[in-house]
Amino acid sequence: MKKVVKFGGSSLASAEQFRKVADIIHADGERRYVVPSAPGKRFSNDTKVTDMLYDCYHLAEEGKDFGKALAEIAARYEEIIDGLGLSLSLKDEFQAIEKNFKEKAGENYAASRGEYLNGIIMAAYLGCEFVDAAQVIRFTEKGDFDAEVTNQILSERLAGTERAVIPGFYGAYEDGRVKTFSRGGSDITGSIVARAVKADVYENWTDVSGFLIADPRIIDNPEGIDTITYRELRELSYMGASVLHEDAIFPVRREGIPINIRNTNRPGDRGTWIVESTCQKSKYTITGIAGKRGFCSVNIEKAMMNSEIGFGRKVLQAFEDYGISFEHVPSGIDTMTVFVHQDEFIDKEQKVVSAIHRLADPDSVDIEADLALIAVVGRGMKSTRGTAGRIFSALAHANVNVKMIDQGSSELNIIIGVANEDFDAAIKAVYTIFVISQL
Ligand code: ASP
Repeated sequence: MKKVVKFGGSSLASAEQFRKVADIIHADGERRYVVPSAPGKRFSNDTKVTDMLYDCYHLAEEGKDFGKALAEIAARYEEIIDGLGLSLSLKDEFQAIEKNFKEKAGENYAASRGEYLNGIIMAAYLGCEFVDAAQVIRFTEKGDFDAEVTNQILSERLAGTERAVIPGFYGAYEDGRVKTFSRGGSDITGSIVARAVKADVYENWTDVSGFLIADPRIIDNPEGIDTITYRELRELSYMGASVLHEDAIFPVRREGIPINIRNTNRPGDRGTWIVESTCQKSKYTITGIAGKRGFCSVNIEKAMMNSEIGFGRKVLQAFEDYGISFEHVPSGIDTMTVFVHQDEFIDKEQKVVSAIHRLADPDSVDIEADLALIAVVGRGMKSTRGTAGRIFSALAHANVNVKMIDQGSSELNIIIGVANEDFDAAIKAVYTIFVISQL
C-alpha cells in the first residue's frame, strides 16, 4: 500500500504542529509521499506565510524597501526550525529569494516560496528526499496545468523513490518559470502526486474532521459526512463548501483513488471518505447542502420562443460576448432565465441587455438582483420518492419564497434560487427536515 499525505497550512504553522504531522507519518509506514502547504495561521488573527509573501513581493515590485517584510517571513521559518531542534539554515535560500525579488521574478514565484521552504524543512525533519515541484509539475504555455506531461515526469521521477516530500501549490512552465495554482492549490498537488504514484489513498490532513452536511456558521453543530462520492462533492464544493480545493478531485478521480479528509489535531477521527462510488447508503436522504449568495437573474421573454430555432444560442451569445459565465438557465414556455454572478455582471449589465435585444429580439428583459442559489445534494435522492416535495414544503413552512428550481439530470442535486435574505432560513429548513427530524 502507498499513501500520499497532504498537510494544510494550519497543520504546519508551528514546530508543535510539525511534530504532530511527523507522528502521523511515522504511525503508518505506508504514508510515503508528503505534500506540505506553506505555514498557515498559528492563531486566528495571524497571517499566512503565503499572504506575507504576496505583500512582500508587491513592495519589491513597487521598488520599495522589502527587507523588513522578508525578515519577518524568515523569522516564521526560523521559529519552526529552532522549535524542532534542526541544524538546517535557510540563509542561502533567503539570499536567493531577495535577489529574485529585486529582479522581479513575479508574484507566482514569490508565493511558491512558502511551500518550497516548508518542503525543505519537512524533508530535513523526516530525513527523506526533497523533490522540487518546479521540476515535476508542468504548466502549458497558456498557463493551464498539463496533466499528462506532469503525470509522465512525476511518475518516472518518483518510481525509484521510496519516500519523498513534494511541496504543494506550484509547478513550472517548460522553461522553468514558476507558476502557482489558485489559492488553496496544495490540495491539487496532493491529488496529482497520488495519481502519479498510483496511491491506494490520498489523505488530506487539515484542521477539521472532514465535511459537514451544512455550513456550521448557519447550522449549530451540523453532523459530519462519512462518505461522499466525487460527483456529490463536486456539486457541493462548486456551491461553496470549502474544505478541499474544487480542482483537487480530477487527478485522483481518473484513477479511482479515494480521498480521506483527516484532522491533524484529532488523528483518531475517521474523517470523510471521498470515493468514486459506494454501496454505502448515506445516513440521510441528502448528503449535504451548500450555497452561494450574490446572483442575478436575467429573465428574457418572447412569445413563441420555443419554436424559434437558435433563440437560446443568441441569448447566451450576448453573455459570452461580454465574458460573463452563466450558472443556470431554467426556461419556460415563452421565457428563459439566465443566472449570473452579480459582481461580474453589474458593470456590464446594460451592454448585455442591449446585446440580447440586438441578437435575439425579445419582447422584454427583466433583471432581478440579490439572489442566492442553494444546492441540496445526495446520491440517495434518486431512489427516494418525495424528496423535492419535502424540500418545498419545508421552505414554504419557513416562509421562504422559491424563485427557481432546477433538478440536475443526474438526479444528484436540486438547485433552489431564493432571495439573499432568505439564504440562512432556507438552509436551516432543509437541514431540519432531512437531518434533525430524522435523528
Ligand atoms: N499556501 C497556499 C495558499 O495559502 C496554497 C495552499 O495552502 O494550499 O493558498
